[in-house]
Amino acid sequence: MSRVAVVTGGTRGIGQAICLALQAQGRTVVANYAGNEEKARTFTAETGIPAYRWDVGDHEATLEGCARVAAEVGPIDIVVNNAGITRDGVLHKMSFDDWNEVMRINLGGCFNMAKATFSGMRERGWGRIVNIGSINGQAGQYGQVNYAAAKSGIHGFTKALAQEGAKYGVTVNAIAPGYIDTDMVAAVPPQVLEKIVAKIPVGRLGHADEIARGVAFLTADQGGFVTGSTMSLNGGQHMY
Ligand code: NDP
Repeated sequence: MSRVAVVTGGTRGIGQAICLALQAQGRTVVANYAGNEEKARTFTAETGIPAYRWDVGDHEATLEGCARVAAEVGPIDIVVNNAGITRDGVLHKMSFDDWNEVMRINLGGCFNMAKATFSGMRERGWGRIVNIGSINGQAGQYGQVNYAAAKSGIHGFTKALAQEGAKYGVTVNAIAPGYIDTDMVAAVPPQVLEKIVAKIPVGRLGHADEIARGVAFLTADQGGFVTGSTMSLNGGQHMY
């Protein structure tokens, strides 16, 4: 039987591309989403991939959602923590709610998903977790103290959990995408985006399937020696 992969925020954008890449790799894929029912229905109709709704920032809902996937589809061996939101604004205009919501979903979501699935992976002696961070978690970004902190936290979370999973056959890695042409980037004002693209050495935005290819590499059966790493996929915008 093929291994079960759950991709959070899998029904559109980068997550959708990740679902398709893992499906092409022969995985049994399940997508999670927050609330866009119409998009989730179209996604399932077009791909045959079931979509399960829960808020990854809600601890209990995530435990229940993953238990439902395990019961209806099978034990979860691969988790891609891709769900994420932005609530941008400079610090002096950012509300506590904007801070909290971004931390709760982007970083809290990784913790909640790991709590729901890591023990099972450990017991079965095999697992793959990929957390989607961001170039802005590595380099910081004006107007994004919440998002940069959450994404930076994801990179620390990845390295710590990788150490816990290593001797049980569970790898934990991160991908730090640069700017990718999804709905999230479509929300950036055009004049700001123009300045961002000017700073990308390859001279264009990335495509979702270019991130998905990285996830397929990190979750491959042969990927057991890659753990605790951060793959920067950003067109050369940030190198270190
Ligand atoms: P999109 O905004 O296009 O899609 C976000 C997805 O996450 C949707 O499926 C959405 O579900 C889901 N989602 C949002 N909140 C929750 C939640 N609380 N619980 C479950 N699912 C949720 O995002 P992108 O595809 O652009 O980004 C994907 C990831 O990549 C994010 O983590 C983002 O931070 C990261 N990233 C993106 C970059 C970019 O340039 N696009 C750059 C660097 C990192 P629904 O459809 O139901 O709303």
